[in-house]
Amino acid sequence: MYNSVKMISTVDYTLKRKSTLRDLRAGRISRWEACDAHPEVTRIARLSGEATAVACPICGKLEVRHLHFVFGDELGPLSGRVYPSQAIRDRLNSEYSSFICYVVEVCTACCWNHLLRSLHFESNGGNGRAKKEARRS
Ligand SMILES: [Zn+2]
Repeated sequence: MYNSVKMISTVDYTLKRKSTLRDLRAGRISRWEACDAHPEVTRIARLSGEATAVACPICGKLEVRHLHFVFGDELGPLSGRVYPSQAIRDRLNSEYSSFICYVVEVCTACCWNHLLRSLHFESNGGNGRAKKEARRS
């Protein structure tokens, strides 16, 4: 158990999101390019995305959902999946020493999608793989 896993850094993509929206409004990119969520991502957002009170910046509908994609060597085949934020806090945070969570907003109405932030979790002292190996022995 890794009770000491903590979020060590966050990368916020708010400025990139604003830039994309500015480019769309200025005609530098098309709506087709801005609203290009893969059908599978949109389906996952519909089924297990976390509802928000955020209006879509493109269509204005309250259909924006957040997806939390989690990646990490220790997760093995579970890496790259979408997890509820509560599972990240309660379970992954104690089972794995290191992982990254990418939070993506997806509008299920118009397929707008954008990376909001990445959260880097790591236990005190660092190398998750080394700690997992040590745990096995
Ligand atoms: Zn929308």
